[in-house]
Amino acid sequence: MMTDTTTPFSLPAIAAAMLLGALTWSFAEYAIHRWLGHDKRLLRNPFGVEHTLHHGRGNYFAAWWKKGLAAGALVALVWFPATSLAGTTLGGAWIAGFVGFYLTYEILHRLEHVYQGVGAFGRWARRHHFFHHFHDPTKNHGVTSPIWDLVFGTYVKPGRIRVPVKLAMGWLIDPETGEVWPHLANSYEVRRPKARRDVAA
Ligand SMILES: [Zn+2]
Ligand SMILES: [Zn+2]
Repeated sequence: MMTDTTTPFSLPAIAAAMLLGALTWSFAEYAIHRWLGHDKRLLRNPFGVEHTLHHGRGNYFAAWWKKGLAAGALVALVWFPATSLAGTTLGGAWIAGFVGFYLTYEILHRLEHVYQGVGAFGRWARRHHFFHHFHDPTKNHGVTSPIWDLVFGTYVKPGRIRVPVKLAMGWLIDPETGEVWPHLANSYEVRRPKARRDVAA
């Protein structure tokens, strides 16, 4: 019996297509955040509206159903061109890499806001992102990596992050003392509104 040794695509080709999909998401993450989220001329788009709330409230995230709907629409949009250009296997692998890295981004972004980071990457990701939130929203748009900030010249290495007390992440402050946890104090400080002097006047 003859065995068919011709497989249409090798595993390395599939892995490369997935990697390319992940890289495509990483660029989309930067572009959506920078231009749809922060370009004043475009801010009325649905992402811009949600993202402005995220910055303003700190702990606000768009509902999962909205994210699911947007992701589903995007996949529907790219499915036909991707599979026509690269075939079902490689086109599908590219989409899987794109969607997989999109989900990674969603989880990482949520974790940055609700959990203290562990490890060098976790600590870097939070400082990079909270510099964007609290120091300069025109810088550090990448959430999963600094690649595109470096490419487009919007990367800033953060110093000590000054966090407005109203927007402080739950993991930053010791509820007993109301101060930044001592082990985080090298990287973060809390900014409180100046006491009003005119109260007694
Ligand atoms: Zn954020
Ligand atoms: Zn932003």
